[in-house]
Amino acid sequence: MLEVEHLEVAYGKIQALWDVSFEVREHEIVALVGANGAGKSTTLKTISGLLRPQGGTMRLGDRRLETLTPPEIVELGVVHVPEGRKLFPDMTVRENLLLGGYARAARPHRERRLAQAYEIFPRLAERADQLAGTLSGGEQQMVAIGRGLMAGPNILMLDEPSLGLAPIMVEEMFRVIEEINQRGVTVLLVEQNTEHALDLAHRGYVLESGHVVLSGTGKELLANSKVREAYLGL
Ligand code: ATP
Repeated sequence: MLEVEHLEVAYGKIQALWDVSFEVREHEIVALVGANGAGKSTTLKTISGLLRPQGGTMRLGDRRLETLTPPEIVELGVVHVPEGRKLFPDMTVRENLLLGGYARAARPHRERRLAQAYEIFPRLAERADQLAGTLSGGEQQMVAIGRGLMAGPNILMLDEPSLGLAPIMVEEMFRVIEEINQRGVTVLLVEQNTEHALDLAHRGYVLESGHVVLSGTGKELLANSKVREAYLGL
């Protein structure tokens, strides 16, 4: 479905990704894990068109993504939920969600998808008229993911959805990601919570200093001695 090959990305003179290749197949959850600064967010920003690669290719089916703009990439169903949620704090939950359904292709489906988002996150239905800035961190993360779903993604890219959440909300977040996947959405998940992410993912890739150093099924990576030492502290 999504094929990234030999991706090279730099911020000015500082190269952040080196020859990064990976693929995400339809209906999978794929985890990208690695330490702070390994290049995970850079990878997602490049796929969604926010950064331009210096080299390499990105393909969604038979479409090339490298030269498309972020709105064109969203129209293809590649939707990025950025780290830090980026909500509009002075708008209500409902208004924030509706903003996710503004793309041309998404507009006719807004009411149906809003109902679906409330089904996945019943808490948001209860708080539809509350200002987003007054929600808890976990609730804000739900809005951010719900807003992503409003675009009708084929592939949903989540950047650190569990970051800064209380343990019980972390559990809930991973449960919701699984539910979204079971509803037919392919997921590319960036996480520093390596254990949880690999436990949930069908497959994963480990990034280190901008290089893919390991890949395998979630189970294989969880059993890998290097992953256990470096990322799980075992
Ligand atoms: P984190 O979880 O901390 O965001 P990450 O794996 O997502 O880590 P990136 O944010 O992709 O890592 O960063 C990869 C490298 O690129 C790091 O060395 C970082 O300092 C650098 N970098 C990221 N954003 C910029 C920027 N806007 N300008 C310059 N360098 C940047």
